[in-house]
Amino acid sequence: MNGPTVGVVALQGAFALHIDALTDCGTAARAVRLPADLAGCDAVVLPGGESTTMGKLLDTSGLRDPLRERLAAGMPAFGTCAGLILCVTEVLDPVPNDASPFGVVDAVARRNAYGRQVESFETDLAIDAIGPEPFRAVFIRAPVMESVGPGVDVLGWQNDHAVLARQGPVLVGSFHPELTGDRRIHQYFVDLVKESM
Ligand code: GLN
Repeated sequence: MNGPTVGVVALQGAFALHIDALTDCGTAARAVRLPADLAGCDAVVLPGGESTTMGKLLDTSGLRDPLRERLAAGMPAFGTCAGLILCVTEVLDPVPNDASPFGVVDAVARRNAYGRQVESFETDLAIDAIGPEPFRAVFIRAPVMESVGPGVDVLGWQNDHAVLARQGPVLVGSFHPELTGDRRIHQYFVDLVKESM
């Protein structure tokens, strides 16, 4: 296949569903567990999970430094939920007890912004970038972006909070687009990856 290969960091969380969604969008997708898996990828998805645990697993797998280098070099990425927390420049309360985030999206994220696990919810979001139909978004102990820098385009809002945003080739979302059959956000990301090749 001549198209891009998208890696999905597969240390924790719903990575298999991201692989399914990317495959549905007609792109090659593979699990990334070790630095060698990342080497052949043109882009990466950082899925949801728990950001402190994910941070620890990035260290034990040896993925943190190669990921940081590839992201700094402009590799397209899509961070969802805990993956968003790993992509932004600053994380607020409770600050994950690990190394600094990758800082590829100029935004301040607040973890667990909606409260505890039981406060998880679904809602319809208007996201013009993917078309007029609302997108059913699943928020699971989700973060929000409390502020974003001038280089960041906010693509989706939930009340007054930015919950989907893009800076250059990096997309971040507070919610879990892999959990519904609606592939429009993955398709948007795949198109972004193709544009940047
Ligand atoms: N609350 C989690 C964290 O702070 C993120 C939740 C998720 O990825 N669904 O890491």
